Amino acid sequence: MSIPLPADCGSILISEESIQERITTLASQISEHYEKVLKDGEALVLVPILTGSYMFAADLSRKLTIPNTVDFLALSSYRGGTRSTGEVKILMDTRDSVWDKHVLILEDIVDSGYTLQFLARHFSTRNPRSLEFCVLLTAPKQKRKVEGYDNVKWTGFHIGEKFVVGYGLDCAGLYRHLPYIAELTQTAIDKFTKK
Ligand code: 5GP
Ligand code: MG
Ligand code: MG
Repeated sequence: MSIPLPADCGSILISEESIQERITTLASQISEHYEKVLKDGEALVLVPILTGSYMFAADLSRKLTIPNTVDFLALSSYRGGTRSTGEVKILMDTRDSVWDKHVLILEDIVDSGYTLQFLARHFSTRNPRSLEFCVLLTAPKQKRKVEGYDNVKWTGFHIGEKFVVGYGLDCAGLYRHLPYIAELTQTAIDKFTKK
């Protein structure tokens, strides 16, 4: 049974089936890469960035065939609404040290690039053995306000200049539960931005 499209959403941009199919492909590419990198007894450390990437991380990790652990990191960059403030803050750090570990950051979307730039700088001071990014969605390059987004090794989908919700992505906390990615209507964007 599929979940009906909420009135705030204009259309489904990426279906549940397309997301799952793409994640299967990403998981096999990632597994293939780390099979060559990980030594006996080593595990890949997945660092999903909360809250937006929780669903992506749950689905991707289940499809990996290499040993892996999961250690969440919570960030805040959006203050509700639909616009980036440019200020990125750590709300909850990883539990374990990533020193000398192979780290794969899982992020929902690259938009302005502030978040990825922040993460790249943050983790580079912590001496992981390797650091890569896997991002479900990438907004068009003209939306980038900073460089540093092009070090993404695995990308799910390139989307247009839209504000999207669903599959972990929210608007004022809503719509994360949708199993698909949907575009927010302009009316809804205006409504949430005013708040
Ligand atoms: P950036 O720092 O690259 O501007 O954006 C990173 C964060 O902004 C993402 O992790 C996500 O939480 C939020 N974000 C950016 N674009 C969108 C969007 O289209 N929809 C939603 N729901 N969140 C977005
Ligand atoms: Mg995010
Ligand atoms: Mg958000």
